[in-house]
Amino acid sequence: MQPFSYSKPTSQPDAIASLQANANAALIAGGTDLLDLMKLGVTTPDQLIDINGLALATINVADDVTRIGALARMNDVANDGKIKKTFPVLSQALLASASVQLRNMATIGGNLMQRTRCPYFRDTAFTCNKRNPGSGCAAIEGFDRGSAIFGVSSQCIAVHPSDLAVALVALGAEIAIAGGEAERRVSVEEFYLLPGDTPERETVLQPGELIMAVIVPNSLEARRSVYLKVRDRASFEFALVSVAVAVDLKGTTIRSARIAMGGVAPRPWRVPAAEAAIAGKPATMANFSAAAAAGMAGAAPARLNRFKVTMAQNAIARALATATGVQ
Ligand code: SF4
Repeated sequence: MQPFSYSKPTSQPDAIASLQANANAALIAGGTDLLDLMKLGVTTPDQLIDINGLALATINVADDVTRIGALARMNDVANDGKIKKTFPVLSQALLASASVQLRNMATIGGNLMQRTRCPYFRDTAFTCNKRNPGSGCAAIEGFDRGSAIFGVSSQCIAVHPSDLAVALVALGAEIAIAGGEAERRVSVEEFYLLPGDTPERETVLQPGELIMAVIVPNSLEARRSVYLKVRDRASFEFALVSVAVAVDLKGTTIRSARIAMGGVAPRPWRVPAAEAAIAGKPATMANFSAAAAAGMAGAAPARLNRFKVTMAQNAIARALATATGVQ
């Protein structure tokens, strides 16, 4: 492992100043992803800035909007009574992530910034355009079972690993960012970039910027929300496919729904075609299936992950059924 220095600022301005003074510094909070990447030689910062001393762990559920600090631990958010009641999909997505031990350490901000689980990215013996731009992509000709079916490029076909980010897209959440002249907000949907020709750029976060919090609007849809995760084993596993839905139901008619998928694209993948197809329709299994089928338009599976198209379609229909109580 490359030698690195360590500092622990106690104020936000000091943390940002440290970050902006060294382009090869990395922030560390829970460290549950970063330390793995450092031990593997995938990430090689020469300075770690420990931000655990900043006052960013508050969970504030108010009437109209909820603010969750970037340093709030995943388990604390998942098990918060108000979060469970107001945003079921958020609690469910967090509890479906990692293990209890990891969730006790890992933070909300760190979860949003975790790197892809593409096995070639994490093994320096292989080429990877995300780790080493211009070197090639071993996954494209390799074992692509876990790869994306939407949003890929000729440079990268990896999926984004966060369950939390998928739930936040379904909730229409934003990320509050500090480091520029003023705090700015970006929707979670727009926070992540598609790989295009620059797969090494994963978010709109600029050098020297720091995630402060996620801002989640309290809404009727949020209260009727569900996270469904399909994976190879029931615990401590990343999604093959996941779906987050938030539904506004009047009687037996769906007024509107927000639908996002995980495990299928380089970023949380919102499904506007499915949302449009179900809006204004009676909540029936036939309508859910039709909306889910509409959401699969444009899917471009690789050699070994064609199953994800059917799996994702079924998962959307099942998640809508669960959210609305339809059998
Ligand atoms: Fe790297 Fe992306 Fe290719 Fe995986 S899919 S090897 S992350 S470039």
